[in-house]
Amino acid sequence: MADQVFTFDVPTEIDKTVLGGKGCSLMQMSNIGLDVPPFFVIPCQTCVHYMENQSWPADYEAKIWAALKKIEDATGRKFGDSAKPLLLSVRSGARVSMPGMMDTVLNLGLNDESVEGLAKDSGNERFAWDAYRRFIQMYGDVVLGVPHKNFEHILEGLKKKYSAAQDTDLSAEHLKECVAEYRAMVKKTINEEFPKDPKDQLIRAINAVFDSWTNERAVYYRNMHSIDHRWGTAVNVQSMVFGNLGQTSGTGVGFTRDPATGEKMIYGEFLPNAQGEDVVAGIRTPIKISDMESVGGVWPGVYKQLCDNYDKLEAFYKDMVDLEFTVQDGKLYMLQARVGKRTAAAMVRIAAEMVKEGMITEKEALLRQEPNKIGELLHKTFDPKAVRNVVATGLPASPGAGVGRVEFTAADAEARFNAGEPAILVRAETSPEDIVGMTMSQGILTARGGCSSHAAVVARGMGKCCVAGCSAVEVDEEAEQMKINGKVFKRGDWLSLDGSTGEVIEGQLATIAPVFSENFNLILQWADKYRQLDIRTNADTPADAKQAVAFGAQGIGLTRTEHMFFEHDRIYSMREMIVSETAEQRKAALAKLLPFQRDDFIGMFKALEGRPANIRLLDPPLHEFVSQEMDFAPLIKATGKSEEELRAFVDSLAEANPMLGFRGCRLGMVYPEISRMQARAIMEAAAEVQATGLEVHPEIMIPVLNHVNEMEAMRKLVADECEKVLAEKNIKVDYHIGTMIELPRACITADKIAEHAEYFSFGTNDLTQTTTGISRDDYNKFMPVYLDKSVYPFDFFQRIDTEGVGELMKMAVQKGRTTRPGMKIGICGEQTGQESVFFCQQIGLTYISCSPFRVPGARVSAAQAAL
Ligand code: PEP
Ligand code: MG
Repeated sequence: MADQVFTFDVPTEIDKTVLGGKGCSLMQMSNIGLDVPPFFVIPCQTCVHYMENQSWPADYEAKIWAALKKIEDATGRKFGDSAKPLLLSVRSGARVSMPGMMDTVLNLGLNDESVEGLAKDSGNERFAWDAYRRFIQMYGDVVLGVPHKNFEHILEGLKKKYSAAQDTDLSAEHLKECVAEYRAMVKKTINEEFPKDPKDQLIRAINAVFDSWTNERAVYYRNMHSIDHRWGTAVNVQSMVFGNLGQTSGTGVGFTRDPATGEKMIYGEFLPNAQGEDVVAGIRTPIKISDMESVGGVWPGVYKQLCDNYDKLEAFYKDMVDLEFTVQDGKLYMLQARVGKRTAAAMVRIAAEMVKEGMITEKEALLRQEPNKIGELLHKTFDPKAVRNVVATGLPASPGAGVGRVEFTAADAEARFNAGEPAILVRAETSPEDIVGMTMSQGILTARGGCSSHAAVVARGMGKCCVAGCSAVEVDEEAEQMKINGKVFKRGDWLSLDGSTGEVIEGQLATIAPVFSENFNLILQWADKYRQLDIRTNADTPADAKQAVAFGAQGIGLTRTEHMFFEHDRIYSMREMIVSETAEQRKAALAKLLPFQRDDFIGMFKALEGRPANIRLLDPPLHEFVSQEMDFAPLIKATGKSEEELRAFVDSLAEANPMLGFRGCRLGMVYPEISRMQARAIMEAAAEVQATGLEVHPEIMIPVLNHVNEMEAMRKLVADECEKVLAEKNIKVDYHIGTMIELPRACITADKIAEHAEYFSFGTNDLTQTTTGISRDDYNKFMPVYLDKSVYPFDFFQRIDTEGVGELMKMAVQKGRTTRPGMKIGICGEQTGQESVFFCQQIGLTYISCSPFRVPGARVSAAQAAL
């Protein structure tokens, strides 16, 4: 392959690994009969050969001249000719797009003779000398390594000398002077004449493009995007066409559909008498392509042809196409066509409408969805036209657009909300006590913590925008201010957060409302038709559950009941329970909590309308519910103990390793009355809702389980309490008792555990923490460096580490189902992005459970995993 040259006139297989992206696009347009300026492509393999040998394959130069001859014949022009010269563009084009990273040379083939030819042929001397000046500048910079500023210096000097405000104010004579000065400067700088021989120019330009594959920018870009350094780039050599030859020429860019909304239309803009960069530079206002006909002259004809090309391109790509074109003397040339980038709204609309138009199948439409983008459709988003002043970037923990005034405590955020103003809550990290303030904020920004930190999990549950672990943020709560990269933000300053990118933006960025269109519903219906995994939701409140059901959740996969202990006055009873010395005292405090819990569960069962609810018993260590900063007065009143005694007790609860300490089922094993209260609350609620005629399917889940004996004991305890309630109420309820699988030992002994657990749910947050030995709350200190240096391929708390954690999961599935064939197994950890969903499908899980706002994206991911 390395010794081949691919020319425009010989249709060839479209293979990006050979021709690169741009080469494929040229070849494809040529194959379907569009007018493309004649070209040839030097494949990526030749670049690889050059990198390995510092030379071209044997006889390669002769092949280049043969290919060049074809371009000459097709255009009726000659390379270096003094009458009708052929000019070339030489561009890089890797198999994946690396925008702006490698080099390009335009107008190649100009010298003192051919510039005269170009002047005569175009009838425009100024145009010819301007092209020559641009060529020397570009070639000098890219190929000869002459600093760009040397050229700028000369050009600026001439503009001053001739009082020219713009480059365009320089005449042909001025430009001739410029070319002479450029050439003298080049000679002085590199001690070599600017190459005059066009063939010499071409060979060196091709080598420069090869070399640009390994320039610093390109290597950095490839590292960032995990692109293989061994691929090399193709080189596209193409006949130049000019859009700046007068009013019958021009240049433009377009899309076959509106890339923002997806609407089918002739979208794009053009400028008569202009070059490509003029459209992008924004100096002159371009004209809409849809208004092209009204320009008159050659343009109505061009418009007709362009419409025809739009149709041909869509029919060929079967997708929205992004295209570039140039018109030279009334003749339309296509320069680039590729599948275009689009917003989430456009992604959905284009796919759905193309199915309706019979262009693609439902499955193809589903495979084109980017599930991570779907979140954008459920949240308010920033106006793409608004200018962003980004001051820092953290983890994109929960999507959405949050705009408000900065507050540093939950209480202040709440007060601002109550005063009718939007707040952004900024904390070093959040804790359960911040919940109310979080609910009332437009967005949450934390300096510490990862994607499974408290702030992230809770914000996702609320569908609230959150940027977490933004280490550039230095919060000074006392001074009521923060510093971000040296800039001070005070209480009340406006801040905007983009939860989809992790960007922290200064000021009040404009937002636009979410769209939940008919087409979106259609895509989701198709997803449900093809997927095999069930989609449940993590929900702690009836409002969350309701929202998730509206988004298509088939039940609850995890209710973290601890969040229910924080609201309103319940926390006081919880604290009373914690400081109890006897089981009797504890039961008395628990009795106060029971009605609250029961009401919560009643709300959940109602919101679920017959769908199953997997409710987890209390998990976190008890010390999370108390602190030295809390108000001790209610506790003193309730217990009769002194403040000192109570403070000492609070201290005694501290643990060196709380995540490995007295938490999860260990709480229930030591204080069975806590688990009994929760089981009772669940079953009393179930009985009450069932009595209203609604179906209920409670599932009671034991957390942080390690040993089969824990499972056996907890099951007995919970089942005993459930049966008691059912006997008291004299009804039957379909309930099940299962466990979280979130410790390696539980995976390894899953066959034994399954003897007593009716179902499993993987808690991959803890399972990742305990398998990898990485604290889920502290990893931000080193993870960014690890990711930068590719020590880890990705953040294991964001995506399942299939090689490590995933192997344990596989083992647990296999062992669990050996004991209990077909047992229900789900996942409720935070790793429910696309790759993780694929893995869950692969290892045969029954369902995945994610936060309500991820449910629609997960439905699509699950369909993709099944296709
Ligand atoms: C888990 O560990 O994955 C889990 C879902 O539980 P939590 O995050 O509450 O520990
Ligand atoms: Mg856990």
